[in-house]
Amino acid sequence: MLSATTHTPIILTGDRPTGPLHLGHYAGSLRNRLALQATHTQYVLIADTQALTDNAADPGRICRNVLEVAYDYLAIGIDPSLSTICVQSALPALAELTLLYLNFVTVSRLERNPTIKDEIQARGFGRDIPAGFLCYPAAQAADITAFRATLVPVGEDQAPIIEQTNELIRRLNRQAGKELLPEAKALIPEIGRLPSIDGRAKMSKSQGNALLLSASDAEIEVAVQRMYTDPDHLRVSDPGRVEGNVVFTYLDAFDPDFQAVADLKLHYRRGGLGDAALKRRLTGILQALIAPIRERRTEVTRAPNLVMDMLRDGTAKANAVTQKTKHEIMDGLALFSLSR
Ligand code: ATP
Ligand code: MG
Repeated sequence: MLSATTHTPIILTGDRPTGPLHLGHYAGSLRNRLALQATHTQYVLIADTQALTDNAADPGRICRNVLEVAYDYLAIGIDPSLSTICVQSALPALAELTLLYLNFVTVSRLERNPTIKDEIQARGFGRDIPAGFLCYPAAQAADITAFRATLVPVGEDQAPIIEQTNELIRRLNRQAGKELLPEAKALIPEIGRLPSIDGRAKMSKSQGNALLLSASDAEIEVAVQRMYTDPDHLRVSDPGRVEGNVVFTYLDAFDPDFQAVADLKLHYRRGGLGDAALKRRLTGILQALIAPIRERRTEVTRAPNLVMDMLRDGTAKANAVTQKTKHEIMDGLALFSLSR
């Protein structure tokens, strides 16, 4: 078992508990977390405070989903003896650092953040943007820096948030006159963002367009049947388009046989390969991926008390780490402290 030593690289990443996790999370971030948990000090944050920024009218939804996300983590193989799983709202240092960091960013810079712009549009906020939502890049910078994380496995949609975190870190380091905090690197998989089944948007919990990691075989089959392909590929013999074809995007993300996918693309472009055959292949791959996750999930949901204990332990450990960093930041910036 790894301990949180100073020289193993530190990872911080997390998810908003707005619903159970889906294939987009798996391709965008969970897969990297699994691959790195044995060699890195990894903190995984269930970001319930952040989830409230656009769900304040329905806190019950966030409350319910904290445990659902924890079940998903255990089901996919996040191992609490290798990764520390913790709950954001129970880590006061994160809220305190957020408040501090808000003094180092401008409203116009927050409004210019491409992720925030996209998400404001997707949520249809218009001018009625909750202030907490607009400011969440500062909160995310607080999360990352409080753990002194240098690596953040995230989906492509989060790249501008990490960029803004690093701007903030440079600003704080300049002011402190030393390297108070290390910069963080986003670890983004090549696949980019996994589209929804209809190919129109990013697969997302909040948009109700997701294929869940707890989906049944039948749900997977129906979802793949509905997948957007090439609307001009009417007969099997027609040449088809691979770009923008959701089935190929998913094969790129989940088919372990890269050579076979490359051959299928050539065949599809040439003509003679039907959508039905491709969809059969993808259905089998997704069913094989999700079945063991679903089975483990059924097992862990039988012991909610054990999962709550695991969350309490992880959060206590994270609390010690984040409080320490907060004090170091306050010292580095020469802020008043009664405990000094
Ligand atoms: P919400 O709709 O509530 O924002 P979400 O589905 O976007 O939920 P988050 O909790 O915001 O999920 O994201 C958690 C992590 O999963 C982030 O690193 C994010 O980049 C990644 N992620 C989410 N959706 C996708 C996707 N479709 N493709 C790739 N990565 C994704
Ligand atoms: Mg999101």
